[in-house]
Amino acid sequence: MLTENTLIARYIAPIAQDINDDAALLSVPEGYELVVTTDTLISNVHFYADDPAALIAKKALRVSLSDLAAKGAKPYVFTLNIALPSPFNEDFVREFFKGLAKDMKAFDILLIGGDTTSAPVLMLTITAFGLVPKGKAVRRNGAKAGDILAVTGTIGDSALGLTQKQGYYRDRYLLPQPRVSIYEFVQKYATASMDISDGMVGDAQKLCAASKVGATIHVESVPLYQPLNEENLVTALTGGDDYELLLTIPTDKFIEFKRDCALKNVQLTAIGTVNASQELKILHHNSLLLFENKSFEHR
Ligand code: ADP
Ligand code: MG
Repeated sequence: MLTENTLIARYIAPIAQDINDDAALLSVPEGYELVVTTDTLISNVHFYADDPAALIAKKALRVSLSDLAAKGAKPYVFTLNIALPSPFNEDFVREFFKGLAKDMKAFDILLIGGDTTSAPVLMLTITAFGLVPKGKAVRRNGAKAGDILAVTGTIGDSALGLTQKQGYYRDRYLLPQPRVSIYEFVQKYATASMDISDGMVGDAQKLCAASKVGATIHVESVPLYQPLNEENLVTALTGGDDYELLLTIPTDKFIEFKRDCALKNVQLTAIGTVNASQELKILHHNSLLLFENKSFEHR
């Protein structure tokens, strides 16, 4: 029987920083500050209980990495709280931490502590800390009238994958691609930034509200993996779990930003413009699109 202490010693200690203590110490390099984000993922709410363990682990970490990238922060360290159904399934645990270790390496982030408990269903909370030069974090509130509104990657893939068993969309749902590789460019060029996690339209509205601006989005410009019918288009524009970035950029810097992103194999696409109204307008072939639900909310 795998107990809490054996689980920690066998699977967590080998991939974590010295966790032989009550708490971790965290120092911040001179001239930097910490960006902190926390997310909880719950079985059958944020993933399916029978999704592969390694992918559940990676997704949990990537969701947090996406928030750090959005703020222009470099991944630094994280904590992991995991509650597993009892009795602990050692195969699941092994695969979970193998997958987690792979992504920790790929994204250059260290595990510094956490908590391990049992619960009726699998629950994960990751709190991630990123580093950014003091005052350089990019907030949601910096968008200015005249800025270009842009997104990374393609929109709606994950939402379309939610109901599929396999294929491109399913893979995108299971394993988001956090835009960590462009964090420095976000820092350098973006006036405002957020990661798209609850649906592009609703999240654009959040960014506009935070910046006290309006915007017009042209649906024809929104990057899609492939052309969609009306119903799927609405799902793509309002469905959650994209983990792409929504950014505003001064017009004279957009080309340079786009070019830098391309060097990192990240597609950056202008989808609209910021204006001084307080309203977000979504235009499709010049007619106004209205949505019943602009984004996903737990209820
Ligand atoms: P305490 O009872 O003092 O909270 P624990 O026995 O819960 O200590 O944990 C022992 C050490 O193992 C701590 O340093 C803790 O941060 C670490 N730890 C426990 N669970 C995890 C986990 N899921 N991920 C990373 N570190 C963990
Ligand atoms: Mg504890």
